[in-house]
Amino acid sequence: MIVSLSNVNMRFATSGGGETIALKNINLAIEPGEFISLIGPSGCGKSTLLRLVGDLITATSCDVLVNGKSARQARIDQDYGIVFQAPVLFEWRTILNNVILPLELRGVGKEQRLRRAHELLALVELNGFEQHYPWQLSGGMQQRAAIARALAEQPKLLLMDEPFGALDEMTRERMNAELHKIWLETKTTVIFVTHSISEAVFLSTRVLVMSARPGEIIQEIPIDLTLPRGIHTREEAQYFHLETEVREWLRKAKGYEV
Ligand code: ADP
Ligand code: MG
Repeated sequence: MIVSLSNVNMRFATSGGGETIALKNINLAIEPGEFISLIGPSGCGKSTLLRLVGDLITATSCDVLVNGKSARQARIDQDYGIVFQAPVLFEWRTILNNVILPLELRGVGKEQRLRRAHELLALVELNGFEQHYPWQLSGGMQQRAAIARALAEQPKLLLMDEPFGALDEMTRERMNAELHKIWLETKTTVIFVTHSISEAVFLSTRVLVMSARPGEIIQEIPIDLTLPRGIHTREEAQYFHLETEVREWLRKAKGYEV
């Protein structure tokens, strides 16, 4: 098991002296190689859950284990790669040097880190853009560079918080296809937060639907679509069927009639 959460609760103090219960009684076990999507109404605690796993915040009452150790230890051991909604790249570094940075910090030799960075940029189809600066690339290309950088350390666990949320539908579908290919090639475990039903179904091995605040996992939907997935996947009857199932649970999550 790569991630295990048992009875995790998260409360935030509000300015009025009260508190917000962001997560309630979360139990979750993730096996290596899974692709897990978290989907749910805005404000239900998806990002909070991801941050807990990534040790960017600490749970109020917690039992979060990553690779059998505390989230903090996993972060120290650099078991994570994290990709946020807006690509976080250093504006003054070229694309190549952005991808190289984590390798540099880890003390990987010059030749080896150059080779690795070129491999990663090829993987996200950015060859030819090594010497460009982030502002010279489109949003989708910047996000691909951020993914390449997150993959640079060969993380056992990739945490992605709505990484394609700002992209138009067609670009998003292309990015989904690329991420799927990368996931198949690297066998990295992914936890992926999204608002998009189609993206969640296309990418995942399991979709977790969360309820409105206080966020709880109300349903787990295994996605048994055949691998590898591609353009054909979005036209399969089973794909529509799974999309409908997720949509119905999302309605329940928001308290709407199904
Ligand atoms: P989501 O990502 O599902 O949209 P979040 O995890 O960002 O939701 O937030 C869940 C709830 O917790 C929201 O009500 C949000 O306002 C609150 N929250 C998140 N982070 C903090 C924080 N650092 N301090 C106070 N409240 C927070
Ligand atoms: Mg969020």
